[in-house]
Amino acid sequence: MSNVVCVNAVHPIESHAVSLIERALKKYKFPFSRFGVEVNIDFKIKDFAKHNIVLDPESRSLQGSIRIDINGLFLHQYPSIYFNNCIPHELAHIFHELTFEKKGMDVDYPHGIEWQQWVKKINSSADLSSSGPAEFDNRSICWNYGGLPTTCNCDGEFGFRVQPNNKNWIKKLKEKMAICKTCNAPYTIQKDNTLIPQRFIKEVEFINDRICKQASHE
Ligand SMILES: [Zn+2]
Ligand SMILES: [Zn+2]
Repeated sequence: MSNVVCVNAVHPIESHAVSLIERALKKYKFPFSRFGVEVNIDFKIKDFAKHNIVLDPESRSLQGSIRIDINGLFLHQYPSIYFNNCIPHELAHIFHELTFEKKGMDVDYPHGIEWQQWVKKINSSADLSSSGPAEFDNRSICWNYGGLPTTCNCDGEFGFRVQPNNKNWIKKLKEKMAICKTCNAPYTIQKDNTLIPQRFIKEVEFINDRICKQASHE
């Protein structure tokens, strides 16, 4: 019987991520009898992963549920970085927070020494950066979920930026007040998809294809 529930892992890479999570939790004696764990393969989140611990307020012992959101795009693009760094990073947060919770303390430094020790325990060669790998680029995710695609005069992928889709930014772009620091040209909203670097078009297609596959699997 599986201790970790995931209803939308529909690709071998995704299932592998879920089994790695389960294996690591088991190895470090995660209290499955007191916590339900759900993993969600998400193609909308902008971060590489997220977790949420909900404690049962009625109970005197530590129990509740935990949800881990995995960034599906990054997982597919860089599986080995994801397995070696991102999963240990996120699981270390969970162990760290639960250990502190048990002691009745709040975590004051999320990426502090105790967290680092957990990361190293889970994978001694994992990266300890708090922000995630430099390879991860969420521009296509931001664009796919309503961000404004803009370009400046810089070449290729570098000249593509996705700006927040709100009144302030629309005004700023119309007034040519959002300036690229490299070429000094204003960013303008790019309505012609053929002028957007292919990579982002392909990533958006990939994201939407995976979402369809998840939906048809339900
Ligand atoms: Zn973190
Ligand atoms: Zn530029």
